[in-house]
Amino acid sequence: MIKSKKLILYGSRDIDNIPELRVLPDKKKFDLKVISQVLPFRTNNYVVEELIDWDNIPNDPIYQLTFMQKGMLEPEQFDTIARLINENAEPRKIKAAANKIRYSLNPHPAGQLTANVPLMDDEPVRGVQHKYRETCLVFPSSGQTCHAYCTFCFRWAQFVGMTNLKFATDESKRFQTYIKDHKEISDVLFTGGDPMVMTLQKLEAYLLPLLAPEFDHVRNIRIGTKSLSYWPYKYVTDRNADGFLRLFEKVVNAGKHLVFMGHFSHWVELETDIVREAIKRVRNTGVEIRSQSPVLKRINDSAEIWERMWKTQLKQGIIPYYMFVERDTGTRKYFEIPLARAFEIFRNSYKKVSGLYRTVRGPSMSASPGKVVIEGISEINGEKVFVLNLLQGRNPDWVRRPFFAKYDEKATWLNHLRPASGEEKFFFEDELEMMMKKKKKLMKDFIEELEVSQDIETGAA
Ligand SMILES: *Cc1c(COP(=O)(O)O)cnc(C)c1O
Ligand code: SF4
Repeated sequence: MIKSKKLILYGSRDIDNIPELRVLPDKKKFDLKVISQVLPFRTNNYVVEELIDWDNIPNDPIYQLTFMQKGMLEPEQFDTIARLINENAEPRKIKAAANKIRYSLNPHPAGQLTANVPLMDDEPVRGVQHKYRETCLVFPSSGQTCHAYCTFCFRWAQFVGMTNLKFATDESKRFQTYIKDHKEISDVLFTGGDPMVMTLQKLEAYLLPLLAPEFDHVRNIRIGTKSLSYWPYKYVTDRNADGFLRLFEKVVNAGKHLVFMGHFSHWVELETDIVREAIKRVRNTGVEIRSQSPVLKRINDSAEIWERMWKTQLKQGIIPYYMFVERDTGTRKYFEIPLARAFEIFRNSYKKVSGLYRTVRGPSMSASPGKVVIEGISEINGEKVFVLNLLQGRNPDWVRRPFFAKYDEKATWLNHLRPASGEEKFFFEDELEMMMKKKKKLMKDFIEELEVSQDIETGAA
């Protein structure tokens, strides 16, 4: 039978105290201590006890997913911090060195903040990103951590305090006003971090106001969460488990389509008794669960893993939704695979499953113009090309207009690709540049405040 567990979070200060870590050689523990001075480290007792196979270290995918590895920093970056630790340097010195490395890891890819944060009465609406017409992202201030941190996460900078994404609760009225005034918004997507780290009361304060008539245009409420993977007890045995389920029922019964955008990177996360029970209970409230993950070297870079993951998902009623390409930030070098390889993994798993699984789109890059999907690899007049498409566009009129890039077997991101047939630019580039310039001008007084935090903390909160 299912037993309850009390959540124990492990951070950089606990490396010597995690019982399972006793199997690790001291050298690996030291690596972990070094890297966690720079990048956020957090795992928990469920991940460590039930998801990681400690007989398969260091190759176990969930170990790679939550435990930092030496190769995640450049050798000289690693050595700098290692030397300071060995010299027993003052924390202040270590922190300064760590910050320097952090700034070199592209903490704010593609100026996402300035480009996507909307203005209302000439002031930014903090905690909101509105890039695609129909969908508005909301970052609740108390939902900006996770039950464990993924080593590849593109939001790593926020977990070490490098962004000012957070907005105070009294400002949440402002985000509500923004949504109320924008009738084109059909989807509100709560994201983080993980909004499901919030208490029941906090989550209610975000969800229930949207049930009022002035939000009738909001049809779909999505919650981006990895809680099913990292802390399924939340919905089964935790003190407020039933309270959360009742809240979901209330939202569904009020006529909203409530969706978990579940983040699953490997089938291991879907095969414990507790996660099966959690999925069942969440779905029984009328919540739909969809799934997404980037494709990552060392974690899920094989068609067999994706095929089994989709099959395990659909069997439990979870709808495969996105396969992403890892973004250009943080530990990307450690996890990246060429676009051509990502497409091969996608195609080889996709061709093995029936139509019911083919709701999944990918491999998709969340880039400045929009969600760019690799449709295929083909040939035009003897030139090998990637066939690309926009699934979402900063301008909605850009979607589903296939375009071509010169095939490049090493390219790992959109900015490595050049248009095919000797064209100079992709069709959206001039307009995108204009849009970005205009937005930058409007935001010029707020850029510093939005992108750089005054106080960068060492390690995760
Ligand atoms: C992916 C994404 C969305 C959601 O797009 P859908 O295709 O509707 O799932 C919304 N906003 C941003 C900024 C995104 O990156
Ligand atoms: S759960 Fe999501 S937001 Fe949190 S660390 Fe993992 S990928 Fe990042």
